[in-house]
Amino acid sequence: MPDLRVCALYPDLMNIYADRGNLLVLERRCAWRGLGFEVTAAGLGDGIDPAAHDLFYIGGAQDRDQVLCAQDMVQTKREALHAAAGDGKVVLAVCGGYQLLGSHYELGDQRVPGVGLVDLHTVREPGPRLIGNVAIEVELPDADGITRRHVLAGFENHGGRTYLGDRERPLGRVLRGHGNTGRSGQEGVLRGNVIGTYLHGPLLPKNAWFADWLIATALGLEEPLAALEDELERAAHADARRVAGV
Ligand code: GLN
Repeated sequence: MPDLRVCALYPDLMNIYADRGNLLVLERRCAWRGLGFEVTAAGLGDGIDPAAHDLFYIGGAQDRDQVLCAQDMVQTKREALHAAAGDGKVVLAVCGGYQLLGSHYELGDQRVPGVGLVDLHTVREPGPRLIGNVAIEVELPDADGITRRHVLAGFENHGGRTYLGDRERPLGRVLRGHGNTGRSGQEGVLRGNVIGTYLHGPLLPKNAWFADWLIATALGLEEPLAALEDELERAAHADARRVAGV
């Protein structure tokens, strides 16, 4: 069985709301099945090798740290990320990381650049931050090729409103919470294996099915992963749905 090779971008600067926990979930769920796991950090100034990793993870950040990383990401990682995405690698970007997948983030009179992996932009509009429990319905193809409906439940806290280009598809439909803009009924973005979402919460501990989907997709497995006991994980998911009201 292959190892899951993860590249974590800016783990010291873009890591609010359980981003480390998300990586730990991937690690544990691999280990419980006898799959190897390695994580490589790519910080400020580091180049990345698109062929050396199966999954690229970009976490959330306060605006200040995000601005610091944005320029660096465009300068030192943009091309590699495009090559990786073009090759079907998984890119999972949460909140601040999600905002940096697009063309830019308008923050007051600053225009923070993004890597342009997907056609979207984000604006810090006047008005309250979009905070609270959130649940979305997503449709994703499983290893057997059949598309199934799932619920992702988590927590969101963002000042930016994210607008998708006409041809982009959201990750999911908002069941409860704000999502991309608080008005569109859309949450996140999904293009090929590039995923952006505002759900922290922590995302993967509360949605173990999604952690498994990421592992199977990143490794290109054709067989479903072996089931795990998951009693606690199912309880965490049920609780996240309960507090979101779905
Ligand atoms: N700084 C961004 C915003 O507030 C993202 C915040 C986050 O990652 N939680 O919109």
